[in-house]
Amino acid sequence: MEQQGETMQSLSEANDQLMAKNHALAKALTRATKELAKAKAQLNQLAGPPLTFATMVRVHAANTDEQGVQHASAEVISGARRMIVPVAASVPASRLEAGRTVLLNENMVIVSQHDTDTLGAVRAVKQVFDDGRLLVTDSGGNATLVRRAGILAKESINTGDRVGVDSSIRLALTLIPAEDDAELVLEETPDVTFDDIGGLDEQIERIRDAVQMPFLHRELFERYDLKPPKGVLLYGPPGNGKTLIAKAVANALAEGCGAGSGVFLSVKGPELLNKFVGESERLIRMIFKRARERAADGRPVIVFIDEMDSLLRTRGSGVSSDVETTIVPQFLSELDGVESLDNVMVIGASNRIDMIDPAVLRPGRLDVKIRVDRPKARQAGQIIRHYLTDDLPLTPGIEAKALTSVLVADIYAISEHRHLCDVCDEHGQWSPVYLADVVSGAVLKNVVDRAKTKAVKISIESAEPAAIGVDLLAKAVQEEFEETRDAILDADPVQWSRINGFDAGHVTRIRPAAQ
Ligand code: ADP
Repeated sequence: MEQQGETMQSLSEANDQLMAKNHALAKALTRATKELAKAKAQLNQLAGPPLTFATMVRVHAANTDEQGVQHASAEVISGARRMIVPVAASVPASRLEAGRTVLLNENMVIVSQHDTDTLGAVRAVKQVFDDGRLLVTDSGGNATLVRRAGILAKESINTGDRVGVDSSIRLALTLIPAEDDAELVLEETPDVTFDDIGGLDEQIERIRDAVQMPFLHRELFERYDLKPPKGVLLYGPPGNGKTLIAKAVANALAEGCGAGSGVFLSVKGPELLNKFVGESERLIRMIFKRARERAADGRPVIVFIDEMDSLLRTRGSGVSSDVETTIVPQFLSELDGVESLDNVMVIGASNRIDMIDPAVLRPGRLDVKIRVDRPKARQAGQIIRHYLTDDLPLTPGIEAKALTSVLVADIYAISEHRHLCDVCDEHGQWSPVYLADVVSGAVLKNVVDRAKTKAVKISIESAEPAAIGVDLLAKAVQEEFEETRDAILDADPVQWSRINGFDAGHVTRIRPAAQ
């Protein structure tokens, strides 16, 4: 009996041991299964076919069966292939938007959706249709009809806006903010008057006849069947008052028409070009549109285009195909359209008139050409008198007029101490360049400003107002001379002679003046 009990005991123990072993084995098996599954998944991943990128065009069909399972298909474009593909049940068809990137598995089923890829070509919106479609054009004026991506569905898009498009799928993907444009066109209400300009009486009279007279005496021009010019070209080396004149015109026109103030819209040719290669045409249109808007309430508007040669370059010069093929014609058509808007006048400025497309300068366009040259000594005196006035702290007993004469004599001296450099023309002929040869209105103002700055500095140091006199002015001229000399010696001879309209023909070399 006792023996039987012992046997039972050992059997039960053996059973326990076996069960524990069994348990451990089962555990190991589960672990192994898991490991196996992991390895298999890894293997699958390595061997799995690639997923394909595509862009959503639209949901083709979508419904849900009684079990709540979605059955949907969508139109997508992948590369150049346009396809209708099934949508996996895990991707909600209602969230598939036009323009979004989707991934297709090896069976061409949409398995996931990503953001819209907003890279693409920039196009200008020409027309917006009621159904949301857009007519867009490229820089060559080629028009395409595009649909809007889902993200643009509710966006307010207007003619003239810029959109990023994917041309291959004919979808507008993104609206490009317009702030940059605003910076390009400077708008101001100028306070410069003709009285602020020195030494340019002749030029001022010409521009008054060309611009102000037709504006103020419209009926007389009509009576004599005389068409006022649409614009004026001011040309000549930089810093001699072209911009000043244009601003003063805007101001003067406003005076005569009781509209309060004129508007001066200015753009720099190279900025227009550099910033938006390929879409300058749209910008030109934008500038004229802005001018018209500003002129709508009767205010005269001057559109001032500085460095016009860079923008309206002779066609066929091969410098930039963009300039030649689209900008000049666009500008001409806008200018020709100005006719009916009497309050808009274009003033161009350039120091390379030879580079401007002749079509721009033909009669009926910018046919009034006014040369604004460097000041001669007499005109220099008139300019300086605007900045060196009797109300300033001057050396007692000396009037501004006398100081001006001394200053002009120093700047215009044809002597070794104002000898900047020598230049060589294409025939190998060297000629001297003096400060007088390169002086401009801006340089004259700068000389006076230098003397004023010195006076301010001395006043701060000595705690009493310092007088502007012959000494300070001479130092100012000397500084201006040295800076100008160094700048010329560092400059590229050909470029320098072009910009400065230097009379010695084409400068090929520049050398320092002999010491
Ligand atoms: P441009 O347009 O010919 O390059 P600006 O009219 O801009 O030259 O002239 C630059 C600056 O030089 C002016 O703002 C002004 O301070 C000064 N200046 C140039 N010419 C004259 C002038 N004839 N009378 C008074 N100031 C002048």
